[in-house]
Amino acid sequence: MEETVIIACPYCNAETLVILDGVDGDSNLVSDCENCCRPINVRASVEDGAVVSIQVG
Ligand SMILES: [Zn+2]
Repeated sequence: MEETVIIACPYCNAETLVILDGVDGDSNLVSDCENCCRPINVRASVEDGAVVSIQVG
């Protein structure tokens, strides 16, 4: 199940949508900002299909 979260881009501070695969555990992915198109490193923790923490940097 996919999870979507909204994060603030560390480069331009715009809100951008990240799609996670919803697999339990920690995952790291790179998502391009919808506004400035720069790659954002996202680290997410998922438990029982829900995002419990997300870090951007
Ligand atoms: Zn941006």
